[in-house]
Amino acid sequence: MSMQQVLPQCPVCGSTSGYELSGIVGKFAKCYQCQTKWKLHLENQQLMGLVMHELPKNGAALYKVAATNAPLFIEIGKPLALPFWQGLRLDGKIDWGFLLGMVDSTILKSIIIEKSEYILNTWTGNRLIQNDKPATSLAQQRIMLQIGALLLTSRRLIWLERRQIGVWKPQATYLVALDMPLESVKGISGESGDSGNWATAKKVSIVTSDGEKTFNLQSALQEILKPQIESAIRMRANEIETEKKRDKIHVMLDFSFLKSAMEKGGLVMQVLKCPECGATVEFPKSGNETKCLHCGKTIYAQDIFEKVKGLI
Ligand SMILES: [Zn+2]
Ligand SMILES: [Zn+2]
Repeated sequence: MSMQQVLPQCPVCGSTSGYELSGIVGKFAKCYQCQTKWKLHLENQQLMGLVMHELPKNGAALYKVAATNAPLFIEIGKPLALPFWQGLRLDGKIDWGFLLGMVDSTILKSIIIEKSEYILNTWTGNRLIQNDKPATSLAQQRIMLQIGALLLTSRRLIWLERRQIGVWKPQATYLVALDMPLESVKGISGESGDSGNWATAKKVSIVTSDGEKTFNLQSALQEILKPQIESAIRMRANEIETEKKRDKIHVMLDFSFLKSAMEKGGLVMQVLKCPECGATVEFPKSGNETKCLHCGKTIYAQDIFEKVKGLI
């Protein structure tokens, strides 16, 4: 029985494009479409199960596995019988709750979170930083290794430096060293690779509007970290968009409202002055915009309100 016969559709991406077979010691199969790689578990030439070896390249690894309620990546290295793969359904949503459960509570104690902000995930690791204290001896390094953790919230990426406090009972504490708003992130790149050794640190670069920052992160496979951060960026962009719309609705006011508000404030205005050409424009009875007959410029009630609000 071949892989294609048992699983005509890739359990991760649903593609029917088939699998690339490889391996001498063990047999491996890789989906041509999503690049998910499995080690085949054979008994008497019969395919009994699959061990996930490499994650898909499109971030599907983060999706909740409907059967187990956990992200797909935790199934790496586990021999799982064929029925699991045949019945595998990914619901397309990142299981943030599961990921949050893996965040160290010492980290959470060290940051101030805004009201509507929530923690998504964290990765421990280190980064190289320039020592800005002048070196007093040769033994002092210009470049220092900073141990810490990268924290992802619904608004920011925060790099926290890990410090040891106390002499008799040393305790770990974290300090915010870098604060990067998600809307400033321009790109993420880094090492990807075999999920078999995904516990080794991977180099990850994050480019924001003020430059590139490089981290060596544990368990930070490109396949996992990148889609997570991208998903958080998308969520944040939607949030900002909604906030903007709400603001716009809030300030949409028309000339009749403006006129009565001004009259209450003891201000009577018969005409407007075009901000573009200075021509006189009749004060409209309604609507939230009017046009200058001289130069064609649109004049908004909102703009007039901004100018006179100090007076009313
Ligand atoms: Zn696939
Ligand atoms: Zn004008």
